[in-house]
Amino acid sequence: MKLVFASNNKNKIQEIQALVPKNIQIVSLEDIGCTEDIPETADTIEGNAILKANFVTEKYGYNCFADDTGLEVDALNGAPGVYSARYAGEQKDANDNMDKLLSELEDKSNRKANFKTVIALNLNGKQNLFTGIINGKIIEEKIGTNGFGYDPIFVADGYEKTFAELTMEEKSTISHRGIAVKELIIFLQKQDRKSV
Ligand code: IMP
Repeated sequence: MKLVFASNNKNKIQEIQALVPKNIQIVSLEDIGCTEDIPETADTIEGNAILKANFVTEKYGYNCFADDTGLEVDALNGAPGVYSARYAGEQKDANDNMDKLLSELEDKSNRKANFKTVIALNLNGKQNLFTGIINGKIIEEKIGTNGFGYDPIFVADGYEKTFAELTMEEKSTISHRGIAVKELIIFLQKQDRKSV
């Protein structure tokens, strides 16, 4: 069975392909000839994951999953949340986004935050959501060069290092995205056993 991952990120696709049951072939948007920009206009992380998965299933007829992620900061009532990529503007620049967040938090003592990933899966006419959350805090300056996005200012609970100081493997064993992907894989493995 072909299962579309609504993404063109080759690394993410390879990683997931290695984990799913052998009868599932993960294909990218490019593989199905989808070159258009999929709208991400929902006002929640769940909503955007659903929009992307439904776009592919409705327009191309494939089983599909899509992910969406955001950083939710307690003292900012959950902002930047669904707007994490473009928090400081349409240029979607990670440094600008971090600078804006650090300045918004300058006078705030509550530094609690979490990353949240939601994966929406459309499989054989049914939809399931898988959520991964990692709790932590926003520190006062950027530390580390690994990773991307807000990694240099996020320290997970129980850790001393920022996400940008962890290796990719260390990060993905605890991260929001890693947790959501594990949930998805467990679900797909269960479906596979049912169909045997
Ligand atoms: P996306 O939904 O995976 O495209 O993520 C949206 C935005 O959230 C990204 O542009 C980043 O700003 C931020 N983000 C997502 N995942 C991470 C992460 O693992 N570390 C740091 N920032 C992230």
